[in-house]
Amino acid sequence: MMWASLWLSCAVSMCYIYWHYARARTAARYFYHRARKLKAEIQCFLEPVVVPAATRQSIPLLLDMQLEPTAHSERSDEECDDSPEATSNEPLVLDDETDPTDATFINPSNFCFLNAIMHCLFRAPRCRELLTKAIKRRSGSNPASDAKVDCVQLLLGVANDMKNGKDECLDLISMGLPRLLRASSAVWITRPHQEQQDAEECLTFLLNLIHDVVHEPRPPRSPRSKHACAANRARLLRLISESDGMDVEQYRQPLESLSALVYDEHLRDNASFIAREYTGQTVQGAKCHACGRFSVLHQQITIVSLGLHSRDLAMSVESCLDRFKQLEHMCDSNQVFCAGVCRTKTAHSIQTFFTHLPPVLVFQLKRFTFDGARVTKNVAPVYFPAQLLNMAPYVFASAAPSSTYFLYAVCAHIGGSLSRGHYVAYTRRSPTTWLKYDDDVLSILDEPRMRHETMTTAYLLFYART
Ligand SMILES: [Zn+2]
Repeated sequence: MMWASLWLSCAVSMCYIYWHYARARTAARYFYHRARKLKAEIQCFLEPVVVPAATRQSIPLLLDMQLEPTAHSERSDEECDDSPEATSNEPLVLDDETDPTDATFINPSNFCFLNAIMHCLFRAPRCRELLTKAIKRRSGSNPASDAKVDCVQLLLGVANDMKNGKDECLDLISMGLPRLLRASSAVWITRPHQEQQDAEECLTFLLNLIHDVVHEPRPPRSPRSKHACAANRARLLRLISESDGMDVEQYRQPLESLSALVYDEHLRDNASFIAREYTGQTVQGAKCHACGRFSVLHQQITIVSLGLHSRDLAMSVESCLDRFKQLEHMCDSNQVFCAGVCRTKTAHSIQTFFTHLPPVLVFQLKRFTFDGARVTKNVAPVYFPAQLLNMAPYVFASAAPSSTYFLYAVCAHIGGSLSRGHYVAYTRRSPTTWLKYDDDVLSILDEPRMRHETMTTAYLLFYART
């Protein structure tokens, strides 16, 4: 009896001590983060940083496919009686919160890539709101597995916790996110011996996962509608292939109509806010040197990969975009198959333009290259506009929505190796200040300091349409 009483009193004492310990730890963590935030605000006020002005290299175009804006283009998809749900034309704005700070994440084992992507993903304008609505509206005919549904619901829960617990430090592992990601086929979750992963692959996975869960399956088209769309598409392709290819006025209208038709079909088959908000479209024009046939190929893209054209000289995002649309001559071993009269590989001139820009535009700066033996990193400085990126010079459309964007987040990779480096996230706090999330350490920077820190480390750039 005496031993039982002794054990009971010991257990009660331990519970009491633990309860006080937990309260003290929570209080200590709160004051620690408040102190860091205050210190950063004072530093930001006292230490302005001067950054050299951005350089820009201009690449002259050899083939003038650039279009001047003209009157509204004619849409030729009237025959399609089941065009996809209209997209919202409301301008996207940052959350109307006075303090857009989110909770931080601890990083017990190489999860910095996931921590950084969570901050960048959910700082997208209206992302939480759109995901909340999409989950509520989710159709019972959506074939996503239970594991994927649970994972996306948890993602939204984490996103809300990030917003509601601004001074908290969250633990994604104890919240169960890695476990559910693994159950949703994220093979890159290697816990407990977690390996560093590519943040771009992580972002692509999360966007696809959310799309899989919230997209609305559409009923099959009527044969009449299918036939009308196919006939319209074939007519536009014929008009384009019969054009000169060097005279933009000959194919401007059919190409714009075809681009809109292809994009609308894509949205119809992939109806989700992810497709509407993040998916853009490019068109690649190709002219055969042998028979002169002009052909076009459309592609829907979510993350725009930009090659860096120098390994040591500074460059700008605009100069990388100039290279993106630069005329290329595909000769010798790079010849392309000609589906015209040649029916074999021939030399071609090709050029790529955007034909649709999404409200949220994500760029990947291709800093990592595989040389056959190992992955090497390009740490050349890249200047990017934070206040206004004008995409108009890279768009083939005469009636596109606004082509100007502002930067709202940056995912940066620090270190010389993909497997050993470290990811941090920067998100916009105000027109002139930024938040830096380095796992559980949060700091506030002014914009010049953010640009200075990310000049050689920026890996993913997140822009929103103005
Ligand atoms: Zn040919």
